[in-house]
Amino acid sequence: MEASVSLLPCAFSQKTKESPATKFVQTVPQNSLAKEVDVDKIAAAVEMILEAIGEDPQRAGLVDTPQRVARLYQELCYSTGVDAASEITCKFQEETESLVVVKGIEFTSLCEHHLVPFLGVAHVAYLPSNGMITGLSKLARVVELTARRLQVQERMTEEIAAAIFEGIEAQGVCVVLEAEHMCMSMRGIKKAGARTVTSAFRGLFKTDKQSRAEVLSHLK
Ligand SMILES: [Zn+2]
Repeated sequence: MEASVSLLPCAFSQKTKESPATKFVQTVPQNSLAKEVDVDKIAAAVEMILEAIGEDPQRAGLVDTPQRVARLYQELCYSTGVDAASEITCKFQEETESLVVVKGIEFTSLCEHHLVPFLGVAHVAYLPSNGMITGLSKLARVVELTARRLQVQERMTEEIAAAIFEGIEAQGVCVVLEAEHMCMSMRGIKKAGARTVTSAFRGLFKTDKQSRAEVLSHLK
């Protein structure tokens, strides 16, 4: 799914503004704040797992697997300990009171209970305060940063909302995540395709029921 962006007039805004859809490309940037990952330690642990399940780590197909898995985990966890709000470095003052909605930001994260992926999309909406907005790609970066660490979906949703709320001091923030968890899909009763939906609210969308209902209607 491609991310779509819209600036929507809503009950609590006077002006309307349209924006062309913007595509977000997920990349694996190097964040200077990212922690160093001990690749050799991961590789040694993976070799132990291979032995523990009765495999021969030296056979041709597996000989490079520990290093490969280590680099994979390095990529999936590069944002451990990074404050996602710090990503909102550029802010602009605009004469707008419009609700900003970005839908369908794809992400892949890692379930901290099973160390297997959960993946899906994030929908983000915020109501600027005093016209303070940020670059739309920054919202996608906040999602990316909160995803690239061990996570549970509920906490990730709250972390995105908190980062945007603090980063631009918005009047209100609403975040909805829809994700499929491989730990569910791969095992047991195999609920493949089942999606977990979580939401988080800050500011006006937390305190005012009517505003919350309206913002949620934009995110469906
Ligand atoms: Zn899990």
